[in-house]
Amino acid sequence: TTPENTTVPLRAAVAALPAYVPGARVAPGSGAWKLSSNENPYPPLESVREVIARASGEVNRYPDMYATELVGAIADHVGLAPANVVVGTGSVSVLGHVLQTVVEPGDEVMYAWRSFEAYPIYAAVAGATSVTVPVTADGRHDLPAMAAAVTPRTKVVLVCTPNNPTGPAVHAGELATFLAEVPREVLVVIDEAYLEFVRDPEVPDAVALLRAHPNVVVLRTFSKAYGLAGLRVGYALAPTELASGIRSASTPFGVSGIAQQAALASLAPGAQAELMERVDALVAERNRVVEALRDQGWELPETQANFVWFGLGDATTDRAREATEAGILVRPFAGDGIRVSIGEPEANDAFLKVAAAWR
Ligand code: PMP
Repeated sequence: TTPENTTVPLRAAVAALPAYVPGARVAPGSGAWKLSSNENPYPPLESVREVIARASGEVNRYPDMYATELVGAIADHVGLAPANVVVGTGSVSVLGHVLQTVVEPGDEVMYAWRSFEAYPIYAAVAGATSVTVPVTADGRHDLPAMAAAVTPRTKVVLVCTPNNPTGPAVHAGELATFLAEVPREVLVVIDEAYLEFVRDPEVPDAVALLRAHPNVVVLRTFSKAYGLAGLRVGYALAPTELASGIRSASTPFGVSGIAQQAALASLAPGAQAELMERVDALVAERNRVVEALRDQGWELPETQANFVWFGLGDATTDRAREATEAGILVRPFAGDGIRVSIGEPEANDAFLKVAAAWR
């Protein structure tokens, strides 16, 4: 029989959590298109696959705990010192470790809503109280309202840019004003999971902000533009002292040797160039899809990421079912809207037919 109940009470904050709902999985050969998890539709580069195969021969040993080579390569890539880089099992777990490093019980963690669904979960697990500030009607962070909502208990503000799932990115001027207004004891986490897809010139250089503000942390990932979602590698860029704290809070040996080597190989100049060409192709597809949707009469938030957002409200569940029936897996947020990832051109064409039928 399956053991069910336990005599040990769960922490109330954890018992109350909604489950993190992953995008549905696609059975091989089903013919369905998976546009539900903002993944990169391209398979790994041959050079990266070779490195993965080689690294697989060493999995009887623990990996380099601090991923020294990868950390060095990331530091070079972003123009900071290795002491400012912490890698982890996807940027989502790095976020968890960031919160565990600074949050005391009863502290507030603030973020826009709707935003990345892991935020309420990680805030609760860290023992924080979530404070949410609605995004504007066009899916943007309302940074003045967020600055106004800071209290003496605010410990962390999460800024997701581009915002998952609505799409817009925060602009340099508004973020500069926000950083000037927020007390320096409040950590501002800039989550740039989709940075490489941004083409808006008004989006600031987060590393420059990190250099100028000792209360800024930047999160980035190899899951999206670099196409390594299945290997789980992300990182934080942080002031040295904070980076050291995040490292202390991290899961020991959390990034496998295979993941470390694959991420490292993706930063090699040739691979990097090829991967960024693919990103350019995805951005071109995004622009094509957005234009086609506008032609269909949709008014959508301005996406700077590899997905588009449909604020469908109460129609969300029905429209998602129709998409699934048409062989397109999308990501519904019940009562609110549907996020659709940009995939290969064929997938996007198939989705455009669904979107036309939605109208
Ligand atoms: N931040 C945002 C805004 C995301 O959308 C995601 C992925 N859905 C992540 C972080 C986490 O990505 P990963 O853990 O794969 O690095």
